[in-house]
Amino acid sequence: MWLLVTGSPRLLLLLLAYITASTVQCRNINLILPNVPDVLHPPIPSEAGISSDDVDGLQSMENIDPEVRPGLFQGDMALNNEIFDYWRVGLRWDIFPEKLWLNRTVPYLISPLYETEHRILIYQAIRTINFLTCVKFVPWTGKEKDYLMIWPVKYPSGCWSYVGRYGGPQIVSLQPPDDTGANCLGTDGRPIHELLHALGIFHEQSRADRDKFVKINFENVIPQYRSNFDKQSLKNTTYQFEYDYNSVMHYGKNFFSIGKGKQTIVPKIEGQKIGQRKMMSKTDCLKINDLYGCLGTPPNYNYKYYTLCNYMGI
Ligand SMILES: [Zn+2]
Repeated sequence: MWLLVTGSPRLLLLLLAYITASTVQCRNINLILPNVPDVLHPPIPSEAGISSDDVDGLQSMENIDPEVRPGLFQGDMALNNEIFDYWRVGLRWDIFPEKLWLNRTVPYLISPLYETEHRILIYQAIRTINFLTCVKFVPWTGKEKDYLMIWPVKYPSGCWSYVGRYGGPQIVSLQPPDDTGANCLGTDGRPIHELLHALGIFHEQSRADRDKFVKINFENVIPQYRSNFDKQSLKNTTYQFEYDYNSVMHYGKNFFSIGKGKQTIVPKIEGQKIGQRKMMSKTDCLKINDLYGCLGTPPNYNYKYYTLCNYMGI
């Protein structure tokens, strides 16, 4: 099992107590930035069960996808056991009302450790979600208790996020480009993927009905990661939308593969592509708007967001 039992955000609060804030202007927006040490470790305590061997072993593999990291549930999600028991493609707000971002507002802080061009790319992803949904990401003013810290976390590195609002400062890890490749900042899709986890959305191929749409080749999955392909019981799940091969939340065909050419997920429609990280799909867009109650209820639909989502290319 690759569950991460999340640690107390107090750890990070302690760390932040040493950080003083400053304001900078970026594209006519005032951003409050903390002064931080060069290396900031996120609240991943020892009880997270991540062994350094696992991390080193997997990270040294060639062409490893930055969303595929050990020690995190399904590679890129930090979950606690309670959430794991009740999760579905989107969190159930009736069970986890506290995971919902209040007033559909998500304060965020982009780390000053990023290069300007990478900050702009992250900002573009945020702007896309703000435009297409009624959820609003707003720069953290230093006053809000709950907010996202978008950070180039060093350990565990890669692209990862908590699911839903965690309470207090909450890391979204986006590894910047380096000699090995673009990591989490090659396209808008990767930051969007992790931000959607932070809004409460899970991976598309974990739906209970996924076997009608994809075949999982378990024999091609690295044995210790087979549970990353678990699907969820229908008992806890209802789906508002059709299965979405184009979802930015769908795994790629080689995720957790034992080697080249050994596909782990095969779509049942021939030639169907999966695992795009370019952009939110139409259905991703509708999914967030639905989870956050932006679409209205019959007969009072809010057509604005239906229309915006339907304009999406993918
Ligand atoms: Zn993910």
